[in-house]
Amino acid sequence: LQPAQGEIVITGVSKWFGKHKALDGVSLQLPPGSVTVILGPSGSGKSTLLRAINHLERVDEGFIQIDGDYIGYQRRGDRLYELKEKAILRQRINVGYVFQNFNLFPHMTVLDNLIEAPIAHKKCSRAQAVELAWQLLETVGLRHKADAWPRHLSGGQQQRIAIARALALSPRVMLFDEPTSALDPELVGEVLDVIKKLARSGTTLVIVTHEIGFAREVADNVVFMVDGKIVEQGSAAQVLHNPQHHRTRRFLDKVL
Ligand code: ADP
Ligand code: MG
Repeated sequence: LQPAQGEIVITGVSKWFGKHKALDGVSLQLPPGSVTVILGPSGSGKSTLLRAINHLERVDEGFIQIDGDYIGYQRRGDRLYELKEKAILRQRINVGYVFQNFNLFPHMTVLDNLIEAPIAHKKCSRAQAVELAWQLLETVGLRHKADAWPRHLSGGQQQRIAIARALALSPRVMLFDEPTSALDPELVGEVLDVIKKLARSGTTLVIVTHEIGFAREVADNVVFMVDGKIVEQGSAAQVLHNPQHHRTRRFLDKVL
């Protein structure tokens, strides 16, 4: 039995862009294996928060830990020291990141897209990486596309491959930033089905999405953000069916 992995603890995180405070004292605790959906109007800081969890943004105040490790920092005694680029890259391997525009490597086949990172970052042999790639293709239902070029796949298929590519590094945490927003409506379901499968697999998921039905189905926690702050959080039943904050109510009235 593996110990539970993928606990995220966010403590008092703030981030400025110039004079604009994009994150304003965000604190959040996400247990290992939990599924969290982040909702909020455009510009409320959702993407900035996900980027901070992956250390694509450096925060100005507060800190973020995954399984006790400080993202981008190391504790020595009672002081935090900033990690070097290489150590940050090693941390990032624990965090899979999937965003709106899948960004597969266009000059590589699907299979090569999936084996590149494990060979480069996990010291997998090519044979091991290929075996893993076939398992992941099974997970996302695309074994028949192994030799295809990304441009010959639908948007939904490309996004499923992008998810498989992130999973190839066996991350403890998967972050999704509006993973279905760029898709034609009829392709949204196939991507959400893959994420639902992951939700049952024990990986910690953090998902920014406007798909409320999906949130209701999979989320353990729903977090609602406005102006860089969490204004409301709780179970899907609480936040989606009985919202307390007027901004949450207004938002749900608009998207439902
Ligand atoms: P959301 O994902 O909820 O739409 P974002 O996290 O993208 O919101 O943005 C939060 C705020 O920070 C917005 O006002 C946005 O314009 C601003 N912002 C985000 N990234 C940058 C950046 N790199 N430089 C300047 N401002 C930014
Ligand atoms: Mg965003």
